[in-house]
Amino acid sequence: MAVKSVKDIDLTNKKVLIRVDFNVPVIDGKITDATRITASIPTIDYILKQKGTTVILMSHLGRPKGGEKKPEFSLSIVANKLSEILGKKVIMASDCIGDAVEKLVKESKPGDIILLENVRYYKEEEGNDPEFAKKLAKLGDAYINDAFGTAHRAHASTEGVAKYLPSAAGLLIEKEVKFLEPILKNPKKPFVAVIGGAKVSSKIAVLESLLKTCDAMVIGGGMSYTFLKAMGKKIGKSLLEEDYIDTAKKFIKAAADKKVEIIFPLDRVCAKEFSENAEPIYIENNEIPDELTGMDIGPKSIEAIKKCLATAQTIVWNGPMGVFEFKNFQKGTIAVAEMVANSKAITVIGGGDSVSAINEFGYADKVSHVSTGGGASLEYLEGKPLPGIVALEK
Ligand code: AMP
Repeated sequence: MAVKSVKDIDLTNKKVLIRVDFNVPVIDGKITDATRITASIPTIDYILKQKGTTVILMSHLGRPKGGEKKPEFSLSIVANKLSEILGKKVIMASDCIGDAVEKLVKESKPGDIILLENVRYYKEEEGNDPEFAKKLAKLGDAYINDAFGTAHRAHASTEGVAKYLPSAAGLLIEKEVKFLEPILKNPKKPFVAVIGGAKVSSKIAVLESLLKTCDAMVIGGGMSYTFLKAMGKKIGKSLLEEDYIDTAKKFIKAAADKKVEIIFPLDRVCAKEFSENAEPIYIENNEIPDELTGMDIGPKSIEAIKKCLATAQTIVWNGPMGVFEFKNFQKGTIAVAEMVANSKAITVIGGGDSVSAINEFGYADKVSHVSTGGGASLEYLEGKPLPGIVALEK
């Protein structure tokens, strides 16, 4: 079902309560990456352009334990940054509910931007408490959710509040749904999923979900060794999840039954120890000696992936091909980032470490869509309904 967009509702003269994801990394009192703040700007700008609107922003920051109001989790640092980015005053509220905030909102004028204090200062937020949601809802005439990163959580500010106000998705959530939904329902074919990362256990649900719509799948990264073990190959000291060997066998059979080609790495770059400075040792097949650990895919694997991606019309990539954090073992991941960036297909990076990789290697602006939510993207691609989005469906 399609989500209702911010563009579908009349916001004229309304106080608009917007859930954004301002959960930015803060070290020593400084914001180290403002991407999440910048990502919210198009929606804020759009709403401010509607006649007579006041913007009321709400978010969480960090994980205040049991709803404790610790100053290190205050959003005031974000208010300053947002004000700097917008070149406009941002009014920082002392709380997110209660009389003082209600008064502040009541006295606000069109064009004002108010940022409410951390919603996780109340344990009722994560508990999705209806009374707390109602108190938040009291602050606005309409509710816009633009926090894709927390859309997989049914919290008061992401789900509960939608029950009490006319609600719609902000431009960020709208874009996420626009790119992610077709992947599960009707991707442009041929559709190739490239899945890597550490563990089968954390990716099996996404593998099974994508198997329903993809024409071919590349399985790389640490999790590929459990699959190769399941196929009777020697994996040396590489990452193995013993408990998932059976799951891997079943998955390989399911793919064969569906006639979906699975491309496993053909060769490996290994190391004697798992470390940044370990010397790369090339193994030209999937028979890794007992003393070695598989760290990256080799050139033959890269060629096989290139061939598979050449005709793709849709590509989803989630998870690195190797230990890309170590310079000696990032060639496979760089190669995939390059292939995805240079492809003419609809290309979607599905969150998490592949987002860090595409950013680090400088290709982010060459893909159709880089998803902003790690856990949320994964759950979306697993086919799970995200409560924050379900609440906005037409
Ligand atoms: P994930 O969050 O599941 O996408 O996993 C990402 C992590 O997988 C990264 O930190 C990589 O270093 C790690 N990874 C990828 N390939 C390997 C490998 N061959 N051995 C160990 N870890 C790996």
